[in-house]
Amino acid sequence: MKTHQYEALIVGAGGAGLMAALYATKGGAKVAVISKLYPTRSHTGTAQGGIGAALGNLEEDSPLWHAYDTVKGGDYLADQNAVKVLTEEAIDAVIELEHMGLPFDRTDDGKISQRRFGGHTSNFGKAPVRRAAHAADRTGHMILQTLYQQCIKHNVTFFDEFHVVDLIRNGDTVVGVIALELGTGELHIFHSKATLFATGGWGRVWSVTSNAHSLTGDGAAVVYRRNVPLQDLEFYQIHPTGIYKMGILITEGVRGEGGVLINGRGERFMEKYAPNIKDLASRDVVSRSIYLEIRDGNGIKGKDYVYLDVTPATVNRYLAEAGETRRITEEDVEKKLPDILEFCRVYLGVDPVKEPMPIQPTAHYAMGGIPTNVDGEAVSDENWTVIPGLYAAGECACVSCHGANRLGTNSLVDLIVFGRRGGKAIAEYVKKADFVPLPASPEKEVTAEFERIRSSQGKTRPGELRQIMQKTMMADVGVFREEKGMKAALETLRELKHRYNTDIHIDDKGQKFNTDLVEAWELGCLLDLAELTTISALNRTESRGGHSREDYPKRDDENWLVHSLLTKPASEEVYAKGAQNPIVNCDKKVDMSLAEQDERFKPKVRTY
Ligand SMILES: Cc1cc2nc3c(=O)[nH]c(=O)nc-3n(C[C@H](O)[C@H](O)[C@H](O)COP(=O)(O)OP(=O)(O)OC[C@H]3O[C@@H](n4cnc5c(N)ncnc54)[C@H](O)[C@@H]3O)c2cc1C
Repeated sequence: MKTHQYEALIVGAGGAGLMAALYATKGGAKVAVISKLYPTRSHTGTAQGGIGAALGNLEEDSPLWHAYDTVKGGDYLADQNAVKVLTEEAIDAVIELEHMGLPFDRTDDGKISQRRFGGHTSNFGKAPVRRAAHAADRTGHMILQTLYQQCIKHNVTFFDEFHVVDLIRNGDTVVGVIALELGTGELHIFHSKATLFATGGWGRVWSVTSNAHSLTGDGAAVVYRRNVPLQDLEFYQIHPTGIYKMGILITEGVRGEGGVLINGRGERFMEKYAPNIKDLASRDVVSRSIYLEIRDGNGIKGKDYVYLDVTPATVNRYLAEAGETRRITEEDVEKKLPDILEFCRVYLGVDPVKEPMPIQPTAHYAMGGIPTNVDGEAVSDENWTVIPGLYAAGECACVSCHGANRLGTNSLVDLIVFGRRGGKAIAEYVKKADFVPLPASPEKEVTAEFERIRSSQGKTRPGELRQIMQKTMMADVGVFREEKGMKAALETLRELKHRYNTDIHIDDKGQKFNTDLVEAWELGCLLDLAELTTISALNRTESRGGHSREDYPKRDDENWLVHSLLTKPASEEVYAKGAQNPIVNCDKKVDMSLAEQDERFKPKVRTY
């Protein structure tokens, strides 16, 4: 077995991983990035709409307003100290990207252009503000390419198509990872002083999702199995606008450019649910509104979708009604949303400059994940005990700067701001820390698990289990939830896990490029995350942000202004009998200084 030694390992080469790798390297650490995908295929590359920063290039803006929106959009669960870091450092981070060479769209006078996005306002909710810096509707693509080029320039070492499948710990300390080399099927041991997970989300838990096939939550599952708790998993964002039946994302930028949602009666229904901010209300609110319309029989032709209309005729009519002087033309739409137009023309045969797009909500973003502080250090409990050697950043981490619901454009900022902080912290840490020895045969368990999957002779293909899991989660642990449905879902998921462990088979028994094997292993991660999401969602008896319970429709600040931390049951045997995972409801020490600064941050009744 090959063993490699690096001071710092970065698992994942999306925006968060590349930014962390760049800063750890610049800080003098010997760094390797391990990625199951070729880096520029990471999901960050699909981000469309923009990156939020209060640059104030087109109209007045401030980081405090951005912070207010983020806290409010997150339904007051976000840690306000983390939000403060996010919104203040966003400005400098975006300018840094520009200096690295990112080709942002420009205003006429040469500044970075900005557009509106859901939930982003000026003056504490008074009016929508142009805060999302963008490069057409390919912002993430540009970020990923820019950062990858910078990493190459700074000689970062990459292990591409290496799949991390286990975390190695010696006592409490994290001392590295085990990775499967896809091309050869061999396992490699990576020994490190510091390891940062930036493995992205797990949208593939649900049947309709905007997420790439690779988003199977490996990082979160791998660390959880090695006794790292996961935070706030009940908060999973369902984005309002995915292409009907396919889930492919239609960016909120469409509504930012003036697009409106229309129901089967031809009504702009968001006027009912969010009279002030209408179609640009936060995502949880818009997704629920679409579901309610569909449930009331107001879907298009009574079916389970509505229209998103960005045709100039419709947009200009509503702009005129609102007393705005701005008008849009077909050319504007072509220029600002080229990828969206192409998706719709290719996949749907619909031309969005002439007709509305059929859309339905789509599973999109994990607010929860590996708990960290603002320096990317992973923590093991509500007392902020740092796990030596373990870091996380990006979507797989929970800082928590998004609370119960993330605002659009705030993930890209999160990657850059907290990826950078994680990278800097690692560079400092490895200067002082020694290599802690590897335990004996750390690969034993994972070798056995891969052998089990490869040689199992069961009746079920992994794909069958995946489909049942995805449908179950969409129906019972999706936009709306209630106890009965979730309990049934939990039972189904446990049954699926049992079948996964005892009754699967795969066709490819080979070593090289065995994607059959890897996909089966990924399903194990998805099943873990589906189960843990359901447990967390059952536990939280209130509605907040992305977690909406029909049996507890109100937000309950008295009892639930807390994060949940889910830890692995002490014994696998107890687990097999279906015992509850221990959940700690913790006030992950919210720093209220920002709140004190401004009374308006205090939790209050929802005012949408
Ligand atoms: C379609 C779409 C559009 C979006 N638009 C926007 C937007 O406009 N603005 C915004 O702010 N946010 C947007 N988001 C959200 C945002 O893009 C993501 O949250 C963010 O890019 C995640 O970045 P990341 O660095 O955490 O992980 P990712 O970019 O998802 O990268 C994950 C990395 O981890 C690696 N990896 C995973 N598992 C393993 C493993 N087991 N071993 C080794 N490597 C592994 C992968 O190879 C990959 O390199 C969008 C998301 C989607 C899906």
